[in-house]
Amino acid sequence: MPTIAERSAPARPPASPRSLSRKRASLVIFTDLDGTLLSERTYSWSAARPALRRLARLRVPLVFCSSKTRAEILFWRRRLDNRHPFISENGGGIFIPRDYFPGLEGLPLTAGLATIALGTPYARLREEFTALRQKLGAGVRGFGDMTIAEISTLTGLSRAQAALARQRDFDEPFIFTARSDARFLRAIEASGRHWTRGRLQHLMGAHDKGRAVGLLIERFARQGQAVASAALGDGFNDLPMLQAVDHAFLVRRADGRFAFRVDFPGLTRTRGAGPVGWNEAVMALLDELGWAGIESVAGGKGK
Ligand SMILES: [Mg+2]
Repeated sequence: MPTIAERSAPARPPASPRSLSRKRASLVIFTDLDGTLLSERTYSWSAARPALRRLARLRVPLVFCSSKTRAEILFWRRRLDNRHPFISENGGGIFIPRDYFPGLEGLPLTAGLATIALGTPYARLREEFTALRQKLGAGVRGFGDMTIAEISTLTGLSRAQAALARQRDFDEPFIFTARSDARFLRAIEASGRHWTRGRLQHLMGAHDKGRAVGLLIERFARQGQAVASAALGDGFNDLPMLQAVDHAFLVRRADGRFAFRVDFPGLTRTRGAGPVGWNEAVMALLDELGWAGIESVAGGKGK
């Protein structure tokens, strides 16, 4: 009987430089933050460190794609030492360091980042929100009506994080002050806007994570190499992102379950939850692709 070590030894010899160059291609990874790369409960990403280190070594771009605001994502980018483009507010905005790709000069800048706005501007959403509320006498309150302390209580975010969450560009989170009011939601639809259900509802224009991911994949592909893409997420709002890539991973939630209604052929589910599952998925992907040691997309200057 072979020992476990013998059985698990690689059957093939390591790839020669020539076979590596034939397989030469690039990889870009998109990831949700809450409940995916960051633990749902503690916001820790320590379980994902081995895979994060490996991606940095391989210079594989890791693009954060979250329902969080630009200000919140900038905070997490600094904490995780990430210098790649990112996607905010469920695909409402794409923000790219200005020297990351050639040809960004024509794009408007937001706090020094080249900006592609896919969502409806927040000021317009707020106007519509307050006009609808008044017209229907609806019991609704949005982040724009709340203090930072209220947002902190409602979301469980620290005050500092709540202040960042309040800096909206493309989406107004709101609650019903009494019970859910279907008239208000129908009126949103009738006005051509969209809403999502959850602990908080969200009012937004017609954007989603998938379109933003598709646009960024195109930008990466213009760097001249074929680009393989992967994405990781744990929620229903991640579905369009997961469907826009070659390798899609649905990350298990802290309670052991998976998001409802997120299912399609080729979707891989992680064994571990949150960052544990994230680490497992990225490690397996890099092994499967056999691209260790191969340069990633030329565009990234960061790690
Ligand atoms: Mg999530």
